Amino acid sequence: MTVEATDKTYLADPLDDRRWSRWIPYVAALLATALFVFDTLSPMQFAIAVLYVVVIMMIASTCGRREVIVAAIACVVLTVTSYVVVHGFHFEDSAWVRSMMSLSAIAITTVLALRNLSTVKVAQERARLLDLSHDAIFVHDLSGNITYWNRGAEQLYGWSSDEAAGQQPRELIRTVFPMSHEAIIAEIHQTGRWEGELIQTTRDGRRLTVSSRWALQRDDQDRPLAILETNTDVTEQKRADAELRRSERRYRNIFDAAGVSIWEQDYSGIKKAIDALRRDGVLDARGYLEQRPDEIARLKALVRTMDVNDATVELFGAKDRSELLGPISTVVGADGDAGFVEVIDALFRGETTTSSEAVLHTLAGDNISVLFNMRLASEPEVMNSVLISMTDITERHRFQEALDRANSELAHAARVATLGELTASIAHEVNQPLAAIVTNGEACVRWLSRQEPDLGEIRANLDRIIANGNRAAEVIARLRAMAKKTDPRYEPLSLNEVAEQAAALVDRELGIHGAQLTVDLANPSPEITGDRVQLQQVVLNLLLNAAQAMNGQPRDTRLIALRTIDGQDGPMIEVSDTGPGLPPEIASRIFEPFFTTKANGMGMGLSICRSIAAAHGGELTTVEKSEPGSTFRLILRNRQ
Ligand code: ADP
Repeated sequence: MTVEATDKTYLADPLDDRRWSRWIPYVAALLATALFVFDTLSPMQFAIAVLYVVVIMMIASTCGRREVIVAAIACVVLTVTSYVVVHGFHFEDSAWVRSMMSLSAIAITTVLALRNLSTVKVAQERARLLDLSHDAIFVHDLSGNITYWNRGAEQLYGWSSDEAAGQQPRELIRTVFPMSHEAIIAEIHQTGRWEGELIQTTRDGRRLTVSSRWALQRDDQDRPLAILETNTDVTEQKRADAELRRSERRYRNIFDAAGVSIWEQDYSGIKKAIDALRRDGVLDARGYLEQRPDEIARLKALVRTMDVNDATVELFGAKDRSELLGPISTVVGADGDAGFVEVIDALFRGETTTSSEAVLHTLAGDNISVLFNMRLASEPEVMNSVLISMTDITERHRFQEALDRANSELAHAARVATLGELTASIAHEVNQPLAAIVTNGEACVRWLSRQEPDLGEIRANLDRIIANGNRAAEVIARLRAMAKKTDPRYEPLSLNEVAEQAAALVDRELGIHGAQLTVDLANPSPEITGDRVQLQQVVLNLLLNAAQAMNGQPRDTRLIALRTIDGQDGPMIEVSDTGPGLPPEIASRIFEPFFTTKANGMGMGLSICRSIAAAHGGELTTVEKSEPGSTFRLILRNRQ
């Protein structure tokens, strides 16, 4: 509810009755005229002009300084005129004395009225100042009656000053005190002040909470006069405080009851350090920090843990949360640096959330792998409340490691099995250089037994012996590499080399199947990172499958094409054949483990090849082509 603001003073003033006051100047003018007529025409020997003071007082009670002065001059003029009209210019008898008395009375009254007006003006200005306050300010006398009520009070409570004047605030705004009213009055008389919170009700029934300050006003003799009450509406603030407390309680409950580890950390020091790095012209925080382990340690020391939840205490084997508060070095060792750099890099790039993996230490000294998720406070520039949630993925890591090991063992077993299939061609491949060595050796012996041995021929034969020996050794080395059981080793490789070496291993076997292989290599060779043996295993499998698929076809139709391509999606190897192709019902199942259409097949080849491709961040797929036969494509995305 709003109350129309008026320009009047809200000092309780018995004379302040606006309905009548606007008529007073006219009544005063009428009175002055009547006095003039009476003074001039009446035969009475009486100082009637003294009554002009009433006119001046009436004007002073409703008008300003100017009007009072005009009225005073008018009264003087009327008095003098009346005297001259009646007595002429004779100034010695008693009429002259009476007239002078009247003029003196008019002058004194005017001076007093003007002084009074100045005092009232000062009081009005002070009262207007109080009106400027947003607080509700009112005064009640010792019997509790309201004597002053400012505009703020009108606006807050909905009662105008006229309505409030003379009322008891306890009843008008139904004040509820936090203690007995008597105790408050006793305190204010003793100390001169009281402060507290009150519940009050507005005119339209709204309940308000106000912060109230009371001050006791005393007179010159130090006797209590009135109480000045200043009330600030804190209803909205109280509601907001209560809401904030409720949301803090809710947040606290979530924080404490969450099953995942949650940390609250202060990153304000890091914020300054990041700003400094930017000022120094650093553009790539990760690159910068990876070269400077000392700088990582310095930044880590700037982070402080403010709070952790129960799940964190349990996960990190602490006795209570205090053991984990403060510097983060207790749990983040040098092996956690990678995760920490991730965080700094994300902050540097202005991200408000980031997640990554890290290895941390428990207080018992064990290493745990965690997946953490970091979230900045709602105002990212504050950074003194960064929330980090952590999930223990140590078990998941162990499981993944076991799975990788099993995969690699399976791949090895499959390789050995494939080599078993290749026994005949391998034996032939080793046999051939050995036979050549024997033939060349025999020729050498023959040349030496001649009377004049031809040293040139002998050297040429020996060179051939060495070359064939090397060829046999190479075949055996490749076979050993395939048969050896080692962990995958990712290294920079030439894709062409991988394809050629695999082709060399099965070249003869393809020949036995009557298949003709053409190799088409990308120039330059795409560079990749991968495990040489595993990638060769994939190519080898694809080539053997292609050859086997074409068994039974006329020999001249058994063609295999091996290609390396530096494609848009990444480097790739394609193996195509001119076999029967893949009908849809078979195509959809060929990558399933143990799916085979061969009488003595195992059905593991393509499934293992696919997991090798996935371990390289790539994929193995079939490609639909218009030509007859089937095409398999290995895409490797991790270019060097
Ligand atoms: P296996 O060779 O032991 O059967 P694979 O996993 O290597 O196991 O192959 C699964 C099946 O995929 C094969 O039995 C065959 O039916 C089909 N297949 C694989 N390669 C080809 C190909 N080039 N042409 C036609 N079918 C193929």
